[in-house]
Amino acid sequence: MKIIFLGPQGSGKSTQAKMLADYLSVPYVEMGQLLRDKMNDTDQDAKVIRTAMETGTLVADNKITIRTLNQRLSKPDYAKGFILDGYPRNDEQVRNLPEGIDMVFYINIPDDEAVERLLKRGRTDDTPEVIRKRLETYHQETEPILSYFKQKGILAEIDGTPSIEEVDADIKMRIKNFKNNEAQNA
Ligand code: AMP
Repeated sequence: MKIIFLGPQGSGKSTQAKMLADYLSVPYVEMGQLLRDKMNDTDQDAKVIRTAMETGTLVADNKITIRTLNQRLSKPDYAKGFILDGYPRNDEQVRNLPEGIDMVFYINIPDDEAVERLLKRGRTDDTPEVIRKRLETYHQETEPILSYFKQKGILAEIDGTPSIEEVDADIKMRIKNFKNNEAQNA
């Protein structure tokens, strides 16, 4: 299966995405990490990525993000399926979607809860200002693209406030339903 995870930072989407990748035995692809891996290169792309990381904005040039993702997904390990975390995040990225996406999980939590969780995580780019900016960017640029997936009938909206185990159970139930539907329609 090819599955996308979206949601505000702090929603637990990465935790859930990794658990589901294990469960389905497909590779996990974290867009933010792919970009962070390039951050210390010496080229112009690295500079653009560093600016984004420092200010909590999206990487300004979508071409960098799209190229970075395509390089990864073109490897043979990803042909059968993957869990993609944190892509797409704006309109142009939606227009450059990997082929054959089966489901999009949208993990949602209130902003206050997100800020509280992120401050506990303590990653170096998680200062209160950068966190707030990332949430603002999320509401402005990423939330509007959810309607695209809703229209296609592949959006699964998940409440991210309960415990990790409860959210995991919710997600796995949706996967089972998806597979049952597929079997019926086959
Ligand atoms: P994350 O690890 O998902 O919190 O992402 C960390 C940072 O990576 C974001 O604040 C952005 O600067 C950058 N980033 C991650 N995914 C994308 C994307 N799809 N498009 C542009 N920038 C991204």
